[in-house]
Amino acid sequence: MVQAQNMILRIALPTPLRRLFDYLPPQPIDPTSLISGIRVRVPFQTRTLVGILVEVVKETSVPLEKLKTALELLDKEPIFSEDIYQLCQWSASYYHYALGEVLAGALPVALRKGKPAEIKKKPVSIEGEREHPPELNPAQQEAITKIGDANEAFRVFLLDGVTGSGKTEVYLHAIADILAKDKQVLVLVPEISLTPQTIARFQARFQVPVIALHSSLSETERLQAWLLARSGEAKVVIGTRSAVFTPFQRLGLIIVDEEHDTSFKQQDRFRYHARDLAVMRASINQIPVVLGSATPSLESLLNVKRERYIYLSLPERAGTAQLPQYHLLDVRHLPMEEGLSSVLLESMRSHLQQGNQVMLFLNRRGFAPVLYCTQCAWIAACKRCDTRMVYHRTPPRLQCHHCDARREIPARCGECGEAALQPVGIGTQRLEDALQKYFPDVPIIRVDRDNTRRKGAMQNLLEQINENNSAILLGTQMLAKGHHFPHVTLVGVVDADSGLFSVDFRAAEQMGQLLLQVAGRAGRAEKPGTVLIQTRHPEHPLLQTLIQHGYSHFAATLLMEREQAVLPPFSHFAVFRAESYAEQHAAHFLSAIKEICTASAGAVTLLGPVPALIAKRKGVYCQHLLVKADRRGTLQHLLKNVLQHIEKLSPGHSVKWVLDVDPVEVV
Ligand code: ADP
Ligand code: ZN
Ligand code: ZN
Repeated sequence: MVQAQNMILRIALPTPLRRLFDYLPPQPIDPTSLISGIRVRVPFQTRTLVGILVEVVKETSVPLEKLKTALELLDKEPIFSEDIYQLCQWSASYYHYALGEVLAGALPVALRKGKPAEIKKKPVSIEGEREHPPELNPAQQEAITKIGDANEAFRVFLLDGVTGSGKTEVYLHAIADILAKDKQVLVLVPEISLTPQTIARFQARFQVPVIALHSSLSETERLQAWLLARSGEAKVVIGTRSAVFTPFQRLGLIIVDEEHDTSFKQQDRFRYHARDLAVMRASINQIPVVLGSATPSLESLLNVKRERYIYLSLPERAGTAQLPQYHLLDVRHLPMEEGLSSVLLESMRSHLQQGNQVMLFLNRRGFAPVLYCTQCAWIAACKRCDTRMVYHRTPPRLQCHHCDARREIPARCGECGEAALQPVGIGTQRLEDALQKYFPDVPIIRVDRDNTRRKGAMQNLLEQINENNSAILLGTQMLAKGHHFPHVTLVGVVDADSGLFSVDFRAAEQMGQLLLQVAGRAGRAEKPGTVLIQTRHPEHPLLQTLIQHGYSHFAATLLMEREQAVLPPFSHFAVFRAESYAEQHAAHFLSAIKEICTASAGAVTLLGPVPALIAKRKGVYCQHLLVKADRRGTLQHLLKNVLQHIEKLSPGHSVKWVLDVDPVEVV
């Protein structure tokens, strides 16, 4: 045993402060047990925290008598492998987030709390019959060959394949090649598409342990899954966003399905983009990564154009399935009933008569978006947010979709007292009512957040859809993404206009992606599909480009527009978001940041502070300051500089703020 005084532990702690903390080792200490990357329990203010030992140093700027002593070393081996540690460090510096929080966030909750990292159970048993792959078509074959040509070196592939083109089949073959070399594979999927079917499909194909990392796992289950990946026993890990931090024994390939999906971007606290981190991770591990989508993001398409990514294309549907036919319905000139035009109703009738399924897409849950007074034009608003209350019928109540506040439905107007309130506009519940009236004999299956909250509810609905022959499926984007519904031959988009005139510069891209994803549900098997799109703006050039020339043209047009306007991906954004109970505090704080930014050298543009689109949420006022630079390096340099100053600003407890690098929405 040696004297502790010349050993100082530099520890990353889960606190928002962007620095490391120095402690003395617990006594007595065997110096060989002080390995970087182990967990250490330490006293911090009035609590104890679990931190990560970053290094052992000889000197500290903290006076020795003030140094506290660590309580306990929790691991004998580093909890972080070298690659995950590097990924966390890179993320902390790129997203300007405290390293201690990034490291803690990368661990399962049980480990964050200091529980031991011990495998308790054996790997999941392998169920299901072995499934045999279909014969690949030439486009699929070429894609797989090119991925194989990477020969396990770092390459980024963009697999651009129309809906139903057999992208999953390409993933499965690429995975098989890696498994044959006794390596592991990480598959990232959006929140919505991680269904038991997806997992079963992987399991059935490979007959190896496949584990899923999703939000409904218990703390212990998640820890066990994490440990099985780390030990190499789990061969394939399928997970949502945070699975990008899973440790592996021998990782050989990463796949990111639906890479354009914005759910890969974490929207609170540590605002990382899991797709971007997947590419970074592949580069750290020197392995290939495949980004797949029917509607690739403009970022990835530009990377292809700049020859950073290798482009793989599946231009046609697999097997005998055909791409659907699109028609725009100008609802200004058609008789309408409850939001449905006569043409759409007629077409639904004929598809249903043939025993097929119809899917209606409406991205608005609830009964009606507005409760309106026909006497004085009063509108029921949320008391805590700058928004309207949504009228729900089952169960009956007013509900705020931003803070989840609930109220009874008033019998009289809040302003003039008349019993003249009327729900205005159409949500999924109202559409369901109307459909029951028009199609009394047809089962109607509604899929939105209100009726899928219970565990297993979504699964039940999906099973119903697969059983039923003639049926109407009705839902929000939950229904639009990723699912395979072989009996759907008609897709109706009830209202295509919401994305056309939004203030967010990404709205058009997202509208196009969503429309094509929805449309992609039609005619995925032998039966051909039709897509009817209701709009008040059939002449809108973007809508026209999308329908007539397809997504590639649409995306190319948007890229050109972004280039001309010098918007991302041709420039780089970061947003400071500040919140305060008093209206002025957030704005003042951001103005101070703006001054610091202006004083720092660097070619950046500053916009704001401005109130957020929803200026008040849950009783808190939100303001934004947008920082824009032509070069990523310039932006990063400025942010780093500015953050050092901001920490000295100390807004006290009255302002909460976050920095969002590469925001997916700026409103
Ligand atoms: P995507 O992920 O591109 O939307 P999938 O991989 O889910 O498409 O494939 C769509 C359907 O086509 C699936 O039912 C799949 O089994 C089938 N399929 C894929 N490749 C082939 C092929 N080469 N021949 C016949 N059917 C195929
Ligand atoms: Zn009134
Ligand atoms: Zn609210």
